[in-house]
Parts: sequence; structure tokens; C-alpha cells
Amino acid sequence: MSSITQTTHESMYEAVLARLNTASQLINLPDSITEVLRYPQKEVKVSLPVVMDNGKIKVFEAFRVIHSTHLGPSKGGIRYAMDVNEDEVKALAAWMTFKCAVADLPYGGAKGGIKCNPRQMSESELERLSRAYAKAMKDIFGVNKDIPAPDMGTSGREMAWILDEFNKITGEDSPGVITGKPVGLGGSLGREAATGRGVMVNALQSLTKLNINPKQSTAVVQGFGNVGSHAARLLAEQGIKIIAIADASGGYYNEKGIDIHDALNYVAKNNRSLEGYSKATKITNEELLVLPTDLLVPAALQNVITQEIAKDVKCKIIVEGANGPTLPDADPILNDKGIIVVPDILANSGGVTVSYFEWVQNKMGYYWTEEEVNQKHDEKMKTAFEKVWNNAQKYKTSMRIAAYITALEKLQLGIKMKGHF
Ligand code: NAD
Repeated sequence: MSSITQTTHESMYEAVLARLNTASQLINLPDSITEVLRYPQKEVKVSLPVVMDNGKIKVFEAFRVIHSTHLGPSKGGIRYAMDVNEDEVKALAAWMTFKCAVADLPYGGAKGGIKCNPRQMSESELERLSRAYAKAMKDIFGVNKDIPAPDMGTSGREMAWILDEFNKITGEDSPGVITGKPVGLGGSLGREAATGRGVMVNALQSLTKLNINPKQSTAVVQGFGNVGSHAARLLAEQGIKIIAIADASGGYYNEKGIDIHDALNYVAKNNRSLEGYSKATKITNEELLVLPTDLLVPAALQNVITQEIAKDVKCKIIVEGANGPTLPDADPILNDKGIIVVPDILANSGGVTVSYFEWVQNKMGYYWTEEEVNQKHDEKMKTAFEKVWNNAQKYKTSMRIAAYITALEKLQLGIKMKGHF
């Protein structure tokens, strides 16, 4: 089984700070603003004892980090994975601050995580763990305080358990305290596919800027979970030929194009894995990242585009479906090669945008059709893309630094108006 090479030598949070510093210097942001944003507002770490199916107790480490509430209640997903740690959750929380600001949402940033392997746990063990997390975070979460959502290793199912536990504790029915819920419990139509949809919209916007006809273009997508599978499907629906896909089991390449609906049917029957998919040639995840293609969509893990991979990358556009797929020292290499990198804080903001719509619908108690949700989403995403594109031209910088600049312009006003100094 091939797997992505995980680079551990660098702190993810330092990667956030490095980009924050570059963007702050370019726009001469007052030091006081940068200083405030360098530190998370709150970090919570808990130990969750859970009765496993064999009757034994296992204790899980879990985190919630609130990075900023300057522009509204904090918003951010909950990740279930073995490599969850404080540094990663801090970085992801800070990215949420910038992501919400770029997308012009009235939110700050947060993130949560539980160190566990959800694939090796039964459904009832996962339910007890999710409920234990909700109990531990009862004073942190709140419909106008801190609003979680799914991330890697979690979905509507976990959100439903957390919501139910939270509502039992508070004695109130507040569906807006969590987003990414199943539609039957107040979830929004269009939420499940929203992050992939945002990737698709950003990909189309970038192709337009380069005068490339989508129907004559190719894409490679890494990750076939929530973000990757919906992104691949939606890109294919735009006439883009998906020549390779990948998940934890490895990469799958077919220069004639992969039928994404067929691959989706395959994983649905194969424990959500592409393992054994025979309608494409098996390659490694590293080989996949350097295939010649118009679009490359890393939508699995962080730190996959290292300096070494960046040197060999042969695409025109990278749309970062995952959070933090590119290491800071790979950025200049990609920039020098003239590759457009649509950064994570813009490219994958479709999920939080529709999470915001879900929260708004929960507050109204009135629900939109999927077409309405998608239309509002696409509008917001195109506006955010244009703002970042224009800032990239104005400051003669990369889309990544331009996205931070776009976020900082908004955060600066919020922080100043609140009178923190
Ligand atoms: P997911 O758990 O649904 O899917 C993850 C995918 O990555 C799976 O296909 C898995 O097999 C694959 N993967 C895992 N290890 C791998 C490896 N070593 N090599 C190659 N592939 C591997 O997760 P997701 O929700 O799709 O999230 C993916 C990324 O997108 C994460 O970085 C997450 O933070 C980010 N993201 C998710 C959302 C969302 O709404 N779900 C929103 C914004 C950003």
C-alpha cells in the first residue's frame, strides 16, 4: 500500500505564521494586528474515557482551539485521525479564521480533533466517543459562540450524535450549534458536496483566467473522501477529463479518463476504499502528484507537496481541496514555475460557506432548495476568487499571499473596531 510521505520536520502552525508575516509585511499591517492574530484565543485539551465494545476503558486525547472571534462566533470542523495533535489543531483553527474572512462570513476560526482511528472503531464506540466529546465541550460550543462541523474522519453521523448530546445537556433544541448535520436534523441541502463544489468553482475560475476550455482540460484528484470524490464528480460534470484519482490505498491512472460515477459505485461497495479498482493503472500517490495535467487537486492530507514534489509537478493550476497540502518552502518553486495555486483558505471554503447557510436557515427555521443554496454558494465563491485574484495582481504576489491579504483587510477592520487596544 502506498501512502503520502508525511513531512513532520515543520510545525504546521509555524507555516501559518510564516504566511501571515509575509502578507502583513506586504500591506504594512500594524504590528499590533499581526501580534493579536499570532496567538489562538483559547486552547482546550481533554482526556475522554470511553467504554469500548470489549468492556475495557480507553482514554482518547481530544482538542478544541478557538483562534479568533473578532468577526463573529468561531467556526471550524472536528477531525478524527491518529495524527491529530495540538500544533495541527492550532494551525487548522487559524486557517479557519482566514478562510471565513476571505469568504466574507461573519465568523471567527476554530478547530477540533480527537486522536483516534475511526476506521478501527465500531459504530457504537464512535457514538460513545462523540458524545463524550460533546459533554467535554459543553461550555465551549454554542450557537452564537463556537460552531463545529465535520472534517477528516467525521460526517453528518458524528454531527448528529454531538448535536443530540449537546441538546440533552442544555435542555434546548438548538440545531444551529453544529453544521454539516444530516438534512433530516436541520442540515442544509447542498452541504455534503459543498467543499467539492467550491473546488470546482475555483477550478473553473482559474481555467477561465488562463483561457483554457474546461472541456479540453484534464484533472488529477488526490483523496476520494468527502472533498475529493465530490470535487472529482463535479469537475467531470463540467466536461473535465479526470485522468487520475487516489486515496489511502494508492493512485489510479487512466489517460483516457476515469468514469467517476463508476468509481463512486465501487467505493460504496468496497468499504469506502479504491483498493482493487481495476479500470485504471495503479500508481503511487507521489507519482500521481507529478502527472502532466491542467488541474491538480490535492484533497486528502496536509504537507504532500514538498519542495521535492514541487520541483517535479507538471500541472498549470493547483486547487487545494485539503487544508495545508503545500509546505511553505514549496511555494516559491511553484510560483517560479508559473503555476497558479488556489490556496486552501479560498479553494476549500465552499464547505464553511454552506455551513454558514445551514446556520442561517436554522436560525430562520426556514429552508432553501438545493438550487438556491448552490446558487448563493457559487456567487460567494466567485466574489471571493475575484477579490483574491485582484489582490494578487495589485500586490504582485501569489494567490496564497493575496488570500491572506484579503482576509487581513477584513480582520484588521474588525479588530480595530472592537477596540482591543
Ligand atoms: P475524508 O476523511 O472524507 O477523506 C479523506 C481522503 O483522503 C480519503 O479518500 C482517504 O483514503 C484519503 N487519504 C487518507 N490518507 C491518505 C494517504 N496517506 N494517501 C492518499 N490519500 C489518503 O476527509 P475530507 O473531509 O474529504 O477532508 C480531506 C481534506 O479536506 C482535509 O485536509 C480536510 O481538512 C479538508 N477539508 C474538508 C472539508 C469538509 O467539508 N469535509 C472542508 C474543508 C477542508
